[in-house]
Amino acid sequence: MNTTPQAAGPDAAAADSVADSLGTSAAQARSAVLEELIRKDPGRFRMLTGDRPTGRLHLGHYFGTLHNRVRLQDLGVETYVIIADYQVLTDRDVADNLTGHVEDLVLDYLAIGVDPRRSTIFTHSAVPALNQLMLPFLSLVSVAELNRNPTVKDEIAHSRQSAVSGLMFTYPVHQAADILFCKGNLVPVGQDQLPHLEVTRTIARRFNDRYGNGTPVFPQPDALLSHAPLLLGTDGTKMSKSRRNAITLAADADETARLLKGARTDSERHITYDPAHRPEVSSLLLLAALCQNRRPEEVAEEIGAAGAAALKKTVTEAVNEYLAPIRARRSEYARDRAFLQRTLREGNERARAVADATLAEVRAAMNSHY
Ligand code: ATP
Ligand code: MG
Repeated sequence: MNTTPQAAGPDAAAADSVADSLGTSAAQARSAVLEELIRKDPGRFRMLTGDRPTGRLHLGHYFGTLHNRVRLQDLGVETYVIIADYQVLTDRDVADNLTGHVEDLVLDYLAIGVDPRRSTIFTHSAVPALNQLMLPFLSLVSVAELNRNPTVKDEIAHSRQSAVSGLMFTYPVHQAADILFCKGNLVPVGQDQLPHLEVTRTIARRFNDRYGNGTPVFPQPDALLSHAPLLLGTDGTKMSKSRRNAITLAADADETARLLKGARTDSERHITYDPAHRPEVSSLLLLAALCQNRRPEEVAEEIGAAGAAALKKTVTEAVNEYLAPIRARRSEYARDRAFLQRTLREGNERARAVADATLAEVRAAMNSHY
């Protein structure tokens, strides 16, 4: 078992202040208001979210955003899911196994319940008009603003490139184009995306002020956080496709058990739920609780003095039981590649039509319609 000393007070305080610098508490309060608005009138929302095709989706994605996507889709919110293939190149020189990873994402989406008849799944590179929004958007933010973005800083720290590329530096701006091309106003994301979304809101506001002639062209989209805006991986840092610390949806039960057995905990035997001081143990408790639809405190009380080994056993069982039907559906869909390809082809067509319409509006607003 991997153990680390219990997080000391100052470290926990630092973690809290990082979370606050990302605007987490404000976004959580806003998310509660949004949930109420969605419940009353799902038709006023258009949701856009997505993922980079850098590997299979994991439990951090699932409880951070995927579960919300399906829930909102089922509530009647119009849904767009972008596979952000160009953005793979933000932190690496070459996009490895791109077609394989894209197919994996489509499989994961279908397995969790994204329904291609109601939701548009598409790849970024197949929608050229979307990228034409980039240039005017770049003109609306300063280099100093981009420099301050804490998520870009974190992604640079974990980057595989020796030098920061222009694509990495401008990441939040292409993300603004990804969201605004379809006039998305609701973005279910994990905590790391909050600073990016703030840039999108700024760009939408400035575009409207500068070119709107009194009629806003773009909405200012809201982030929607889940109850697990930052699930930790087996090494105690953000669970991430690229950090080899993730439990994927597609992993089998044995692999899940092996990975969770090696998960980092701390040196205190008695299990308690205390996210500020015991982040690793608390993230594991939260994971079990989400799978079992319980409160993490309740799971902690049940385990108590039985310690980290018992905690890991509980989490493993909870995860494997929760994911079993998703994994079974994934294997079913994997047998029908033609369906995966058709899903993407149709999604790309729909996204292209929407992007063309928005671009025409943008060009008209900017007096560049010749
Ligand atoms: P990569 O390491 O390649 O950047 P990633 O695991 O960070 O992959 P992304 O494709 O960058 O995944 O993120 C997709 C979405 O999932 C974003 O909304 C992000 O906030 C959310 N997300 C990713 N990891 C987590 C996590 N550990 N907890 C909660 N949400 C997460
Ligand atoms: Mg990421």
